[in-house]
Amino acid sequence: MPAQSMEELVSLCKRRGFIFQGSEIYGGLQGFYDYGPLGVELKNNIKAAWWRSNVYERDDMEGLDASIIMHRMVLRHSGHEATFSDPMVDNKKNNKRYRLDHLVKDQKADVQAKVAELMGESVENFAALVAALNANPARASQVLREAGVRDAFSGEVGEWTEPKPFNMMFKTTIGPVADEDSYGYLRPETAQGIFTNFKNVVDSTSRRLPFGIAQIGKAFRNEITPRNFIFRVRELEQMEIEFFCVPGTDEDWHEHWLEKRLSWWEAQGVPRSKIEILDVPKEDLAHYSKRTYDLMYDYPTLGHEEIEGIANRSDYDLGSHTKNQAELGLVAQVEENTDSIAKLTIPHPETNKPVVPFVIEPSAGVDRAMLAVLSEAFTKETLENGNERIVLKLRPHLAPIKVAVIPLARNREEITTVAKAIKAELQGLGLGRVLYEDSGNIGKAYRRHDEVGTPYCVTVDFDTVGKGEDPALTDTVTVRDRDTLAQERVKISELGGWIQARLR
Ligand code: ATP
Repeated sequence: MPAQSMEELVSLCKRRGFIFQGSEIYGGLQGFYDYGPLGVELKNNIKAAWWRSNVYERDDMEGLDASIIMHRMVLRHSGHEATFSDPMVDNKKNNKRYRLDHLVKDQKADVQAKVAELMGESVENFAALVAALNANPARASQVLREAGVRDAFSGEVGEWTEPKPFNMMFKTTIGPVADEDSYGYLRPETAQGIFTNFKNVVDSTSRRLPFGIAQIGKAFRNEITPRNFIFRVRELEQMEIEFFCVPGTDEDWHEHWLEKRLSWWEAQGVPRSKIEILDVPKEDLAHYSKRTYDLMYDYPTLGHEEIEGIANRSDYDLGSHTKNQAELGLVAQVEENTDSIAKLTIPHPETNKPVVPFVIEPSAGVDRAMLAVLSEAFTKETLENGNERIVLKLRPHLAPIKVAVIPLARNREEITTVAKAIKAELQGLGLGRVLYEDSGNIGKAYRRHDEVGTPYCVTVDFDTVGKGEDPALTDTVTVRDRDTLAQERVKISELGGWIQARLR
């Protein structure tokens, strides 16, 4: 059974070294997390699985790694300067700041109902309620007070200001000169790096439509209320594809990607039955979107929340960058027989005329993926002897440690020498991390490796080195299976193949 609460996951992540609070020794920094020894392995494995499936296993994809800090013009003409904002309200009593929709959603049912009633809306249509509050800031401020909306921090009814937009981009100065133009933005999505390199990739690879560009990287959002562990953070990582296609074929490609992404999640142990597909209502669409499917995973404690967005971004971004470059005089007005102005076009596969392609964008968060994968893998079992064990039943390709090699006696050289040699041999097979584990007694080692999801523990004992009771067991080791707890004696000479076959 998956994790029942977020607390269970938070506690496991801290205890076993998956995830730590950022800047913890100075009291922590809200919305920033550090990935520990096991977290970095799991994260890398998730990213590798995504890259393998979306880049290596397709013939219509290229990869990219663009810079994080971007020219302010990119984010101006992508629409982010003007619209990448969430509505915020302040409580004048204690100067605490909240995201308007989060503030209302966190109220008790009767308070939510009162807010809706005063606004002439319903709680069921929450998006419309938030839109109404936003549209009339003066009334919203009054309604929040009248309905008795409480501040989560003080527990008291707040003295709420009018909601106003808060831009979530991080601005940063560039270089030593402090003139007002020498700044850039930390990208709020990796996508813009793909759009700005569209022509570079096309020119250097001779791609024709349809094809995609994939990128994994950090993005930054100055969330008003970062919360729920790594679900909503200010420094996040995204796995994004911009898939470029001929206008008119976009809706079919949108369906294609919806299907592909759901089966990818399934292969990571996140089943379709736990994901609801939200066809995002028109009024909630991002400024660039023609249509968006949000994949809503059923997170413990939180319920259904977005794990991935699959947007039809139409020709919005390439079109906008092209148009604005022309306006800025950065590119010449070009080509006959076309309305498009310049650079970010590609020949139509049939007519050969320049066309601004449409774009389908599957965009998944690595941090939210970690949380879902951990949540599905988390299992509490009662053993035959009545003891409880926690085991992470991760898919083997995601497990941070693939095999732990454990010497039964850590101060007996004949045993440790063999164990170290086995570790080195298995490590050489390219399975991922193989750990030489001599940190505690065997029972503790098994418990620890169950909790971190190690599929196999290999134990080297006295029999292995011919000093046990059964000479027939010389040159064999015990392999313990994480899920079934079965223990099998395997010849050292066959161990590599035995494990490889099962980790596949
Ligand atoms: P939300 O509505 O939850 O704020 P969003 O619609 O703004 O998310 P997108 O802009 O579609 O998110 O970003 C694509 C993906 O990036 C999301 O599906 C999510 O997995 C991830 N993501 C976005 N914002 C955050 C965040 N603050 N923390 C962690 N992951 C995030």
